[in-house]
Amino acid sequence: MSFNIAIDGPAGAGKSTIARKIAKKLGYIYVDTGAMYRAMALYLIRERIDPSETEKIDAKCEEADITIGYENGEQIVYLNGENVNGLIRTEEVGNMASASSPNPNVRKKMVELQQKLAASRDVVMDGRDIGTCVLPDAQVKVYLTADSRVRAERRYKELSEKGVSCDLDTIEKDIIERDHQDMTREISPLMQAEDAVLVDSSCMTIDEVVDAVIGLAGDR
Ligand code: C5P
Repeated sequence: MSFNIAIDGPAGAGKSTIARKIAKKLGYIYVDTGAMYRAMALYLIRERIDPSETEKIDAKCEEADITIGYENGEQIVYLNGENVNGLIRTEEVGNMASASSPNPNVRKKMVELQQKLAASRDVVMDGRDIGTCVLPDAQVKVYLTADSRVRAERRYKELSEKGVSCDLDTIEKDIIERDHQDMTREISPLMQAEDAVLVDSSCMTIDEVVDAVIGLAGDR
């Protein structure tokens, strides 16, 4: 049986950085489920669909073939055969992902793909509904969070280092809005699974969080 580590939490909590490091240390595969929703969002943006056009999203999501591959240990997301890794990290795509991810057809498609990936291999998977819905039997479940100001500051630092001009208050406002959208949707809202361990990384370094999660895995 494969060993699965599920990491859920709000935007900017550091899930992907942590999950990637844990996967590397343990020799597991890292599955970034947000990237899949982002690839779907990119498709919808390209098709000029508005997030409110639910019926159109239902139909269009059938046309988007999203698959995952790995190159040098990095996850590559393909949208209808095209590597879209370099196109999905924008705020526009993130916001469209959050707006389109409540759609039941979109979720069904993504969850099936994610469950297939985890069935036969050891994975660290991060997202919003991994512990509650995608991998309810995961051996380790973590709900990773941090204060919204701390998350905004981390994002601000990341963008500033890339030379992108940004405003801390606007980033925090966007983060709070996205969390609200993800936590209040009807299907698979973001929440801590009953058997998940809460890790608040507000005052922790990346390595401290990584060690804490690996410690939990070791206990199993
Ligand atoms: O984690 P990331 O910011 O890349 O996710 C983008 C959006 O995709 C989230 O705001 C959320 O709406 C959606 N998502 C989801 N379920 C997941 C992963 C992401 O609904 N498992």
